[in-house]
Amino acid sequence: MQSKHKRALVWLRRDLRCFDNRAWSEAESLAEEIAIAFVFDTCILNQLKKDDRRITFIHKSLEELNSKLREKNSSLYVRVGDPTIEIPNLMKELKADALFLNRDYEAYAQKRDQNVKNTLEEKGYDFYSFKDHVIFEAEEVKNKSGNFFKVFTPYSKAWRAQLNSNSFSEAKVKLTKLIPAQNKFPNLEKLGFCPQSLYVEAGRKGAAEQFKAFKKKIPNYKEQRDFPALSATSQLSVHLRFGTLNIRELFRHSLNKDAGTFIWHNELIWREFYQMLLSSFPQLPEKCFQSKCDSIKWPGSKEHFQLWCEGQSGYPIIDASMRHFKKTGWMHNRLRMVVASFLTKDLLCHWKWGEAYFAENLLDFELASNNGGWQWAASVGCDAQPYFRIFNPTLQSERFDPEGTFIRQELPELKALPNKFIHAPIKAKKSDLKNWGVELGKNYPLPIVEHATQKEKAIKLFK
Ligand code: FAD
Repeated sequence: MQSKHKRALVWLRRDLRCFDNRAWSEAESLAEEIAIAFVFDTCILNQLKKDDRRITFIHKSLEELNSKLREKNSSLYVRVGDPTIEIPNLMKELKADALFLNRDYEAYAQKRDQNVKNTLEEKGYDFYSFKDHVIFEAEEVKNKSGNFFKVFTPYSKAWRAQLNSNSFSEAKVKLTKLIPAQNKFPNLEKLGFCPQSLYVEAGRKGAAEQFKAFKKKIPNYKEQRDFPALSATSQLSVHLRFGTLNIRELFRHSLNKDAGTFIWHNELIWREFYQMLLSSFPQLPEKCFQSKCDSIKWPGSKEHFQLWCEGQSGYPIIDASMRHFKKTGWMHNRLRMVVASFLTKDLLCHWKWGEAYFAENLLDFELASNNGGWQWAASVGCDAQPYFRIFNPTLQSERFDPEGTFIRQELPELKALPNKFIHAPIKAKKSDLKNWGVELGKNYPLPIVEHATQKEKAIKLFK
């Protein structure tokens, strides 16, 4: 069959892989030749710190991809700049006649892609976009009245009912038809960033090994997923974010009917729920889903917020989580919920402050999930935690880090405390604390607020 296009450009963004990639696969079947591009978008890069870990992750993943292309006598076309200018220029330079990409549901990305589409279509090029980042897009899972679901459980039921083997079939990439090329690949420093150490290995190899190791843990996921010291979750979020692994692959390889798999799939469906919400309600990064909550005047101070960021709150589980986060860019889901609840309901700080701090520091930052998680914890979001159900940080700590293993790992100054006091050193006698090497207010902070008092204030604020 004759190809429809002479030469196609595939523009990678959240799909940094050369296997099971819908846009790439379609380009292979519709064009005689293809070129693969990535744009370091300066509209985004200019807002980042020079030690941003995500750029190291992206750079390493692209380096791996580039070496795969080199094996085929081709290479990546890397550009630095505004994609709405760079992509049309590259199309012209390569004499390509069609652009292929996978859809991105964030408002900025949608606007950018629309601009690129308009420019290309004006010039007579073809533009193709595909679903790849999710199993089901927003329009595909609706309730009986044709509206978006606003509660997770019925959404997840409808989502599961719709799932069949076509939903996650592989979009095969054969690595054929690549145009010969020996392009330069920029180093990280040239892009203005410093290499960072990462808690996961980047790229396809990293993703595949991570998933392989996690498969053995799935049967215990239901019982162990909430315990940060156990490392029982997949840590695949960053790979899902940048597409070094695809959501379809996860469903192809883990379709068992055990409870661990069911609960793990639920988490993957939460990811789609939040993607659906963001694409249906693009105003969410600015506004609360429950619009009446936009008028809440959060009384929390910048000083308390700073102590929360630094892990100096006097609540060991909060401090261990925040210090670990600052060091690595990673936080366990249970701890994300606990620290977010503490910031909004104990310190009464605006959820947007916490959301922004996470956005700046999470390696796996995903606008939809981060915004969804913060609005959930602050009780202002869609299907959120009810405002009167407020986590007690000490009880959460006793329940999910019972031996204080995680706390001791991050707060060596509390190492000698017995389990009874590791969650709340304030409850121990001063003289005992001294024997264990702890002086509150000196080598570990006194609690900056009292939970019971703050809980009452939070409930009043919502009422
Ligand atoms: P697993 O337990 O192995 O779960 C598998 C996958 O399901 C994850 O990789 C992730 O893609 C998805 N997932 C799991 N839990 C959730 C959830 N509650 N909501 C949406 N997707 C989920 N997740 C992000 O990927 N990026 C974020 O920026 C982000 N910010 C968050 C902020 C807050 C305040 C909260 C409470 C949660 C946030 N989450 C975010 C969700 C969740 O904490 C992480 O996805 C999870 O901890 C990643 O670890 P894992 O890969 O080991 O997850």
